[in-house]
Amino acid sequence: MKSAISELSVLVTDDSLTQRQYAKELCMDLGVRDLHDAANGADALQVLEARGVDVVLIDLEMPIMDGVELIRSMAQKKFVSSVIILSAKDPILIASVGTMAEADGLHVLGTFQKPLLPDTLECSLLRFIQDAKNQAAEPKVAPENDVTAVELGQAFANNELTLAFQPKLTVNGLILKGVEALARWHHPQKGMISPGIFIPLAERHGMIDTLTRHLLQVAFEHKKNWQNFGLRFNLAFNLSPLSLADSDMVDWLCKLTEDYGIAPNEVTFEVTENALLGELASAIRTLARLRLKGFHIAIDDYGTGFANAQQLSRVPATELKIDRSLTHRSAARPQQRTILASTVDLAKNLNLTTVAEGVETEEDFRIIQELGVDLVQGYYFSKPLSAEHLLAFIKTGLSQLRRQHERK
Ligand code: C2E
Ligand code: CA
Ligand code: CA
Repeated sequence: MKSAISELSVLVTDDSLTQRQYAKELCMDLGVRDLHDAANGADALQVLEARGVDVVLIDLEMPIMDGVELIRSMAQKKFVSSVIILSAKDPILIASVGTMAEADGLHVLGTFQKPLLPDTLECSLLRFIQDAKNQAAEPKVAPENDVTAVELGQAFANNELTLAFQPKLTVNGLILKGVEALARWHHPQKGMISPGIFIPLAERHGMIDTLTRHLLQVAFEHKKNWQNFGLRFNLAFNLSPLSLADSDMVDWLCKLTEDYGIAPNEVTFEVTENALLGELASAIRTLARLRLKGFHIAIDDYGTGFANAQQLSRVPATELKIDRSLTHRSAARPQQRTILASTVDLAKNLNLTTVAEGVETEEDFRIIQELGVDLVQGYYFSKPLSAEHLLAFIKTGLSQLRRQHERK
């Protein structure tokens, strides 16, 4: 694995000789030695076919084959290079090409308006190194389709489903406000299966209610246990959009909360923005009833769907969770940062508590602080933890984290 900018190979694609020369000089100043250039997309593809490179700088406007076509071809040919997208055109256009490239499966290090600045280039190349490290450190998950609904059914019986808890901290002072419960399936042979795989599987096979009810009981067991230790913080739990259409769910949830001696105002139900786009009326009915009982409601993954401000204002929510696609790396994407800032504004105007999800770096956090977001959640502070590790985090990890930040 490459650990320094000097080890990277870079291809500069730009039709203007002066611009190409300028970008290459910036790369050389940063220590890049394995440097190539191309005056259009077709030439760039030839270089990639012949030898492959780590990073491609792509100018969008080029003759013969422009940057958009080049990105398409790179994705179709499954070239593994990461890209930095540049243009003199308006930032909205550049950002939307970046989104397109990501949707095509390319790894986008940044989208920038020209001129490319030395700091921006350096940050993007360092990001390449960091991402490669993170990818290598990620635990291997079983490939999709590798688990069946039958196995999921057995997982309940064999107690293979557990919960991990990810801290939600205040931006000011890093105080623990709550934790989000995240489902985990440890398959005895296939290892960790991502909830991104088994939740939709449960939804498709009519098992989501069983799963929700089972995991909520597990979550409440833990919450009661924490209360017995004198620890009172909010517990957030994800509800499937299908559960919002289940009219018995609210009564069941109220009864369970009462049985466990848990205060509804210490529980938040998270529902995704997209859940609100379908059966809005029945979703609102369920959410309104939950609110009336005193539970909190969070709109999850905000920024990934297409809910507009008016739809948002109709939902009886108390919290807006801003998706990682807006919070992460907004420093390198001016357009994204603008959307992030206006989302925070909108949430504040609607009196919603704002939560930034997927905060992974110091840079992400700095912007979140500047924008006055209320709470943060992300790998930068803590990954989702087992119940045991959560207690250790509360006992020692949290004060260490605060000390680190005081020094900064
Ligand atoms: P989510 O509700 O948006 O949960 C946050 C996801 O982001 C979690 O993934 C968490 O591990 C991950 N995450 C947190 N911080 C960071 C970060 O800094 N960087 C990155 N890259 N990721 C971060 P996870 O645990 O894989 O869960 C995926 C999704 O599965 C959840 O997204 C949620 O929609 C769903 N899910 C998880 N547990 C449950 C559940 O009990 N019931 C239902 N219905 N859905 C669940
Ligand atoms: Ca969530
Ligand atoms: Ca989320």
